[in-house]
Amino acid sequence: AKTLRLILGDQLNSKHSWYNNVDDNVTYIMLEVMQEQQYVMHHVQKILAFFAAMRNFAHQLTQHGHKVIYVNLDDRGNKQDFSENIKHVIKKEKFERLEYQLPDEYRLDEQLKTLCNELDIDTATADTEHFLTERFDVKDFFGGKGYRMESFYRHMRQKHHILMDGDDPVHNRWNFDADNRKRYDGKVPLQEPLNFDHDVLALKEMIDAAKVKYFGNVDAKHFAWPLSRKEALKVLQYFCENLLPNFGTYEDAMLQNHISLFHSRISFAQNVKMISPAEVVGTVLDYYKKQSHNISIAQVEGFVRQIIGWREFMRGVYWAQMPGYDEKNFFKHHTEIPHWFWDGNTKMNCLNKCIGQSLNEAWAHHIQRLMVIGNFGLLAGINPDDMDAWYLGIYIDAIQWVEITNTRGMSQFADGGIIASKPYVASAAYINKMSDYCKNCHYDYKKKHGEKACPYNSLYWNFFDRNADKLEKNPRIGMAYNNLKKMKPDERQRIMEQAEAYLENLNAL
Ligand code: FAD
Ligand code: SF4
Repeated sequence: AKTLRLILGDQLNSKHSWYNNVDDNVTYIMLEVMQEQQYVMHHVQKILAFFAAMRNFAHQLTQHGHKVIYVNLDDRGNKQDFSENIKHVIKKEKFERLEYQLPDEYRLDEQLKTLCNELDIDTATADTEHFLTERFDVKDFFGGKGYRMESFYRHMRQKHHILMDGDDPVHNRWNFDADNRKRYDGKVPLQEPLNFDHDVLALKEMIDAAKVKYFGNVDAKHFAWPLSRKEALKVLQYFCENLLPNFGTYEDAMLQNHISLFHSRISFAQNVKMISPAEVVGTVLDYYKKQSHNISIAQVEGFVRQIIGWREFMRGVYWAQMPGYDEKNFFKHHTEIPHWFWDGNTKMNCLNKCIGQSLNEAWAHHIQRLMVIGNFGLLAGINPDDMDAWYLGIYIDAIQWVEITNTRGMSQFADGGIIASKPYVASAAYINKMSDYCKNCHYDYKKKHGEKACPYNSLYWNFFDRNADKLEKNPRIGMAYNNLKKMKPDERQRIMEQAEAYLENLNAL
C-alpha cells in the first residue's frame, strides 16, 4: 500500500528499523507547525535546535534515497497543525496507509489517535526503538504500589547486566552517592563544554517573520547545540574523555562563572533520539573498562543511574500517571510566578545566575534546576502550573514526559510523593555549601531574619510551618519539625514575620 510515515520532531532516530530499506511505496513526512510553537512559550534556542535538527534529519533521509515530504513553518500550504496537514497530504497524494512512531507526549498521543479515527485508511503505530523500557513497564513493575526509583534502578541493572558481578553489584554497592556530590574544590581543572558553531540566522529570521512568540537569548551565528547524530556522538566522546572522570564527584556542585562543570549536556541529543540511552551507557561502560585506572566506579555508577534509572523511571511514571498528573497540586500552591523568572533580574545571586544562565543557554544543570530554582518555587508556594510552563519552555531538553515528572513531581512535590519520598527543599546553608553564589550576594546566607536576611532561610521554615498537616507525619521529615519545635517562640515568630514580608512581594526580592 502507498504509505505515509510521520516523523515527529523528537523522533530523529536514524537507527530505526523503518530506514533499513528504501521502499518506493513509503514516503516520510516531517512538519514544522505553529501548533508546536504555541502549547507553551519556548526558548528561542529550543525552537531553532528542533527545526535545524529536523531539517538535517530530512536531508539525510533524502540522501539515503528515502522519499521525504518536509513542510517548513512558512510554506504557503502549511495548515500549522499536524492532523490538518496529514489529512491534506493523504487526500492530495492518495495515500492508502498512515504509520507513526508512538509519541512520548500524552498530548500528541491523543491527537494522533483521534486523527486515525477520523481517517478512512489503514493506520499503524511503531515503537520509537529508543528507550530501554516500554511505556508501561514501570507501572507493571510496581503493580500500582508506590514508585521508588532505587528499586526500579536495581532491577534495570540486573535485567541489562550493567555494572554487575553475577547477581551482585560490582564493588558490592548499588550506590556511590556518599563518595560523590562534593563542592567544587579546584583540585581538578574545569573543562569548557563542547560547543558547536552553527549559523542558524536564516532559520531565526524565518521564525521572526512568522511571528513565533519566544523568549531567551541566542547567538544565531554561533549556535552551540549538536544538530545531527554525528555531533551527538562527538558530545558523548568529549564527555567520556574530559568530563566523566569527575562527573560524580562534582555532580551537585555549582559555580557562578562556569555553567556546566562536568555535566555531559547530552540531554537534547538524547531527547530528540539522535542517540539512544543504550548507546550512551554502552559507550561510557566501554570507556570505563578500557581506562579503569583513570575513572572510578563512583563516577560511572553516578552517570549510569541518571540514564537507566532516572530517565526511564520518569518516563514510566509519566505514562502510569497521565492523564491527570499535569493537574496535581498537593500543597494547593497558587502564587503567581515572579517576573524575574523571565529576566533573571533579582538580587538573590543564586537565582540571578541560574535563571540568567538558563535564559542565555537554554540549559542549566540538575542541581541548579532542582535546588536553586525549583527549591525557591516550592518554598514560595508558586503555582505548579506556572512552574511547569516555565520549565517546559526554557530548557532545550524539555519535553513533557521528562519535564513534568521532574518539575511537578521531583521538584515541586505537587504529586504528594509519587516520585520523591520527601520534598527537595533546603535553606541557604545548602546553597552556600554547594556553590560560590552566596559570597557575592546582596543577602546574607547566615541570617534568618532582619536586614538582608537570605529569603531561602525564612521561607524554608515557613514552608514546614504552613504545611505541618501534610508533612509532619512523614518519617523522613521529622528532623525539621523537631528543630522547629525546639526554636524559641520569639525567634520562630521573627522568622515567620520575615517570611510573610518576603512572600507579600516576591517581585521585589
Ligand atoms: P547530566 O547531568 O550529564 O546527566 C546525564 C543524563 O542523565 C541527562 O542527559 C539525562 O538524560 C539523564 N538525567 C539526569 N537526571 C535526570 C532526571 N532527573 N530525569 C531524567 N533524566 C535525567 N531533563 C530533561 O531531559 N528534560 C527536562 O525537561 C528536564 N527538566 C527538569 C526539571 C527540573 C525541575 C529538574 C530538577 C530536572 C530536570 N531534568 C530534565 C533533569 C536534568 O536536570 C537534566 O536531564 C540534565 O540537567 C540535562 O543535562 P545533562 O545532559 O548535562 O545531564
Ligand atoms: Fe542565594 Fe541566599 Fe546565597 Fe543569596 S545568600 S546566593 S539568595 S542562598
